[in-house]
Amino acid sequence: MSADYQVHADVAVITLNNPPVNGLGFATRQAIVAGLEQAQADAAVKAIVITGAGKAFSGGADIREFGSPKALAEPNLLSVIAAVERCRKPVVAAIHSVCMGGGLELALGCHYRIAAPGCSVALPEVKIGLIPGAGGTQRLPRALGVEAALNMIVSGEAIKSEMLAQLPGQKLFDKLSASPESLAQEALALAREVGAKHADGSALPLVRLLPCQHKDGDAYFQFARNMVKGMSKHFPAPAKCVDAVEAATKQPFDKGMATERELFINLMWTAESRALRHLFMAERAASKIPDVAEDTPKRKIERVAVIGAGTMGGGISMNFLNAGIPVTILEMSQEAIDRGVGVMRKNYEAQVKKGKLKQDKYEQRMALLTTTTSYDDLKDADLVIEAVFEELGVKEKVFRQLDAVMKPGAILASNTSTLDVDKIAAFTQRPQDVVGLHFFSPANVMKLLEVVRGAKTAKDVMATVMAVAKTIKKVAVVSGVCDGFIGNRMIEQYGRQAGFLLDEGCTPAQVDRAIEKFGFAMGPFRMGDLAGNDIGWAIRKRRYQEKPDMKYSKTADLLCERGRFGQKVGKGWYDYVPGKRDAIPNAEVEQMIADHRQALGIKPRKISDEEIVQRLVYSLVNEAAHILEEGIANKASDIDVVYIFGYGFPVHRGGPLCYADEQGLFNVAQAMKRFALNPLDDAKFWEPAPLIQRLVAEGKTFNG
Ligand code: NAD
Repeated sequence: MSADYQVHADVAVITLNNPPVNGLGFATRQAIVAGLEQAQADAAVKAIVITGAGKAFSGGADIREFGSPKALAEPNLLSVIAAVERCRKPVVAAIHSVCMGGGLELALGCHYRIAAPGCSVALPEVKIGLIPGAGGTQRLPRALGVEAALNMIVSGEAIKSEMLAQLPGQKLFDKLSASPESLAQEALALAREVGAKHADGSALPLVRLLPCQHKDGDAYFQFARNMVKGMSKHFPAPAKCVDAVEAATKQPFDKGMATERELFINLMWTAESRALRHLFMAERAASKIPDVAEDTPKRKIERVAVIGAGTMGGGISMNFLNAGIPVTILEMSQEAIDRGVGVMRKNYEAQVKKGKLKQDKYEQRMALLTTTTSYDDLKDADLVIEAVFEELGVKEKVFRQLDAVMKPGAILASNTSTLDVDKIAAFTQRPQDVVGLHFFSPANVMKLLEVVRGAKTAKDVMATVMAVAKTIKKVAVVSGVCDGFIGNRMIEQYGRQAGFLLDEGCTPAQVDRAIEKFGFAMGPFRMGDLAGNDIGWAIRKRRYQEKPDMKYSKTADLLCERGRFGQKVGKGWYDYVPGKRDAIPNAEVEQMIADHRQALGIKPRKISDEEIVQRLVYSLVNEAAHILEEGIANKASDIDVVYIFGYGFPVHRGGPLCYADEQGLFNVAQAMKRFALNPLDDAKFWEPAPLIQRLVAEGKTFNG
């Protein structure tokens, strides 16, 4: 049973009990209905309270049942709510902590509602590309008023119960309890009061019977449609939220429910909702490591040290300060410290100026920061993150010193983006304590953290850093050791394709436009200009030595030879006007590309946007398949998470592998084989990875 049933004198209490958030799974739904039946059969019971055990009233659907027949099995949520509404004895929802999605819809079906202050109330379905599907769009506008309800439904954001209780004319809550602690007693008292009131069999109040209108009718909904247009560019759900709420104002309740159902089911079948649901699950799954049990004991992380106060060290430190964890930064000199801390201050001050951070919070955070030039000052740290120059020799010096001073059990992490974490671990006597923590720039903003697991990294170190990632609000994905880890190893193939496309006939603007239309925030050339083209140049120069057989376009090198490093020098693939980020195509660059083409004897051809997008995206997909097969990534969904949170892959596509699944892996493999026939491309690369071939043969998908 996933709900408990108890009788307190003349009140029956049904307590949802399905940790962690009392999701409305099959067993819980059955238990609610069983409880209602039991209470109605018991003559001593005059009223019923539904509440939740532990940390929530209810967080809504049980995500563990997503996609399984159990999710829809009767009694489904609609049937449960109908059973509540039809109950002959008054049902009081006693709401606390979290009341979301189906949880709120269940509460709206109850005859009375009492909420504790501080409860987060939301209908977040829009965030997974849906609308509420169990009456939320029809009942909430009746209980709360059309505008407030539509705002909640369209944004999916949580609002505190005490704020909602203040809305004029609201009928969502009959009462707010004095405190969360007094909710249970006050709910019993309310149940007794309404039990007595309806003892004569008088009709019980139902939200469905409340009127639902907006005084400006059509004009208001037109306005609402315009408002959601911006946010619904790639997403159909927000506009459907407006349609559903409009139906609540214009159709009788049962007809409105049918409209909601139809809109909900149609959205379920959209690729966008599939992508968002996939990401919702993928993000939660990313923190799970197959061979590291969830109850693995974690090391205590109370003090952090960061080596290097450059671009990354400063940003990394800010993450911990923001989470209230003291940080000591070690640098080579006082000047370097001053420079690094100055940048951090500037970042915080910009947030204060924008009103995103209170002055006192800023001061509290900076008060947690200490700096030093001596390793002796680091010995109390539980976790040290190295972010010095990307040279193995420098890393060696740092790790040997850390090994000498850090206390036993401290975790030694490197933020290296390209170097071998196993080699770094071997500089110490404690390779089991060494791990890669690959932050993305700007480290205080970007959500992705690649956790690089060395051959000897201990399981409790993995469990600890995954938990630390959560504390500092990062989405962590585990990667094995390889050049570039998951994200950069894939992006290299994407970059190579971008280069070939120029050689074959595209302009940088054409490539960028095509992939931006697909949904990337920035195409590869605008991105190169932003990051600095010299960085890619340095990597390629290394590659020419390491992988002399690998084919590269030389166009980007020619650009760098002209000093066109990107935005920082005002010119790259495009020109830039100081103070602006607009990319202005440059005739000289286009001529340079044309001359290079001619020198190679290539006759330019017109390349379609479809080919551009497929070559860029499928290059990511093929490399990802190798990464999966080699065990560098644990699962396909981890790769999607890396690309969504670290590389600006369009959210509505769900990540490269989700997108490939949507296209059909047979079609993806066919396209790869076609690209392999292009003499100007890399035939060997385009051979579909063995994993793709296997999945196609078995009719399976990556995210299966
Ligand atoms: P940076 O040049 O901005 O900063 C490096 C800092 O380390 C400098 O302030 C330098 O004074 C300090 N330093 C160098 N040697 C030191 C030593 N022996 N002891 C103490 N301090 C020392 O470099 P960055 O961009 O912050 O990169 C740092 C690391 O992060 C590199 O390994 C890099 O590959 C990695 N990384 C960088 C990015 C990025 O986008 N910049 C992204 C991910 C990872």
